[in-house]
Formats: sequence, C-alpha cells, structure tokens
Amino acid sequence: MRTLESLEHILEKITCMRIGQKYEGLKNISLHIQNMEYEKYNFIILRLKKQIEIVKKYNPPVRPAMDPMVSSYLGIYSGLDFSEEYGLLMGYPKCCIESFKSARFAIDNNHLKEAEVIKENINNNLGENNNYALVLTSGFIPCSLKCRESWSKGLIALVSFKEYKNIVKLERELLNELPHYHGGYNEYFEKIFLKK
Ligand SMILES: [Zn+2]
Repeated sequence: MRTLESLEHILEKITCMRIGQKYEGLKNISLHIQNMEYEKYNFIILRLKKQIEIVKKYNPPVRPAMDPMVSSYLGIYSGLDFSEEYGLLMGYPKCCIESFKSARFAIDNNHLKEAEVIKENINNNLGENNNYALVLTSGFIPCSLKCRESWSKGLIALVSFKEYKNIVKLERELLNELPHYHGGYNEYFEKIFLKK
C-alpha cells in the first residue's frame, strides 16, 4: 500500500502546514496553504480525500498524479517558483528534483533511450514475462528511468497487462469522480509500452 500511504502522507503534511507546522524546505508552500481562503482549502482537502478513497480500491503499484485541481490550487501551474517545494511535498527523490531544476521538464530523449534498453532486455533476454508497460506518476520527471529511489517510492514500476488495465480503470474513475478542466492532465499515469 506504498502508493496509498504516500498520498495520505501528502494530505497529512498539507493539513499540518495549514495549522502552522513547519517542514524543512517548504516555507513558501506553507505560507500559501496557511493564507488560502477557507473555501479553497476545504475544497482541496475534500478532493484529496476523495482521491485517496478511490486509490484505495485499486491499490496501484504506481502512485497516480495528484488531482490537478489540488495541484492548481497549490500553485503548481502558475509558475515554477515552487517547483522544488512542490517536489518535496510530493515526496519526489532529491536527485530527481535537482534534475528537474536543471530544466528537464518532460520525458525526453534520454529517458526514451533508457526505455529502449529496458524494452530490449525484456523482449530479448527474459523470454516469457508479464511486463506490459513501464508506468510513471504523471508530471513526475525522474532523473533516470533507473532511479532506484523512484522505484522504491512507487513513482515508477513495471506492470503486467492485468495491472495496466486496473490502472486505466482507476484513471477513468478519478476523471469521472473528480472532474477538472486541465486539458493536458487527463492522465494520472505516464505509460511506456514494452511489447514489440
Ligand atoms: Zn532520481
């Protein structure tokens, strides 16, 4: 239940910051949360709780992206000023936050080359295996697809076809239950298919 726990941990941090608890490296985002209007704050807490409730039913091996409305109210799309703090709040590994700060804002060619190697290994060396796709938390850009900490934190995982279908169902339920209007954020997971 690693992925669920990490979402619960984020919710806990937000509620603690609201009442003034200090966290190392989260100064600006703390202030932002403390100064949020009551309605807005309540709205994001309700959405986050709802998201956690849905994720609990599916128990995916990778954490879905945070609800886009919550991210939006936390100020993540209104500039990259908070990117480091946002990454910390999301529990992203330090190495990946550093790499993001060096202007690696998307899955790029280096990631795709790494994906090719993973694909080759899976298709050539291992014979029968159940790996269908490499799945990442949408919006999370790892320093490398091989970043160990990202794997151990449930931000990257190899999934079987069965798990993949479960993830797609979860995405659909999240979209239905928590509608939002961020066009580019209809997917909570980034998927790289592995089968040739
Ligand atoms: Zn990393």
